[in-house]
Amino acid sequence: MFDVSVTDLGDSLYMIDAGMHDEPERLACYLFDTPNRVLIECGPSNVMPNLTAALASIGVEEIAAMVVTHIHLDHAGGAGHFAARFPEAEIGVHTAGARHLVDPARLWDSAERIYTPAGMLALWGPMDPVPEDRLRVLDEGSIIDLGGGRSLDVMYTPGHAKHHIVFSEERSGGMFVGDSVGIAFPHGHMVQPVTPPPDFDQPLVVGQLRRMAARQPGFVGFAHYGITEDAPRVFDEAEARIDEWVAFVESLGDDPDAADQLRSWVLGQYRSEGISEDDIDQYDRNTFWPMQATGIQRWLSLRDTA
Ligand SMILES: [Zn+2]
Repeated sequence: MFDVSVTDLGDSLYMIDAGMHDEPERLACYLFDTPNRVLIECGPSNVMPNLTAALASIGVEEIAAMVVTHIHLDHAGGAGHFAARFPEAEIGVHTAGARHLVDPARLWDSAERIYTPAGMLALWGPMDPVPEDRLRVLDEGSIIDLGGGRSLDVMYTPGHAKHHIVFSEERSGGMFVGDSVGIAFPHGHMVQPVTPPPDFDQPLVVGQLRRMAARQPGFVGFAHYGITEDAPRVFDEAEARIDEWVAFVESLGDDPDAADQLRSWVLGQYRSEGISEDDIDQYDRNTFWPMQATGIQRWLSLRDTA
């Protein structure tokens, strides 16, 4: 079993390495160990043993609410399992994602088209429904009470997914951004876009990046993976890279090898920026290139037919 690790970030905030795919630094969950304990992200169902072990290691047996940034399986696939394991917990999700947690069949089918049926159970484990009466539907401006005078503030940030939200908390200064900014391996060293179909939308993503930046968070908490305190650089870099990626994919036209072309171009860029081969390998192994290319191509074709 994965050796669980929990990092104390201060201010009663913990970062939990969920050990996704039995590897470190694939998925971070964030726990506010406050009077009303709130966990951000539960991950796929196959990390539940890691997650419960991590929570037990800091003496946490009960959770008031588990909230997901969005319903992609690497963030919310285990929501039904989590609801069963923590029967007092509310399950918080954006209004556009709620019905998919209650009835995951459609979400599962659409993910199967990306990951193939064979890959699904191996990658994520099964997805159980969340009972409807356990759901807490969230949207721009929702407030999640942490107790002790603290709260999580919800922003609606579509662009990566149309059901994406991010959470901010004043005392810690944290903004927990899910996949709306990108991925950053290791430790916020560099931000890479995440552009999956069917929802990726360049101007929406960029607009939300600017809105998040305007809040001037003290640090950004990535789901993949960890925290970085240089928030302005993170938002600027995310925007610049998304623009570059979209321009590159657009320049390929209908090239059927767009995924391979994007991969070699991006990795070549990283090399020319002097990023180490180990780091480049980390990004490469954590990127599903066909998904990235298809998401951008889909958005370009929607834009051009609009
Ligand atoms: Zn993700």
